[in-house]
Amino acid sequence: MSLLRRLILAVVSRERAASMEAESRRWMLRCNECAHERSVWDLGGLRYGASGSPSYAARCLQCGKRTTHRVELRPDGGT
Ligand SMILES: [Zn+2]
Repeated sequence: MSLLRRLILAVVSRERAASMEAESRRWMLRCNECAHERSVWDLGGLRYGASGSPSYAARCLQCGKRTTHRVELRPDGGT
C-alpha cells in the first residue's frame, strides 16, 4: 500500500498530493473493540474523493486483537 501511495503521489501535482494527504489524514479507522483510532494515512494508505464508511478487519495496535475497523471521515476543522 505504501509503495502504491508513493507511485500515486509521484505522478500527481504537488497541490493534489498535499490535498490527498490532508484528506487521508481525516479518514480514521476505528477499532470496534476499544475505539482506538488511526488515520488511513498513518497506516500507509491513501483515501481521496471517497464516500461511505466501509469496514475492514485489521489488527488493532491498542488492544492487539484482530477486529473490525470502521472507516469514518473526521469532520473538517480538526488537526
Ligand atoms: Zn482495539
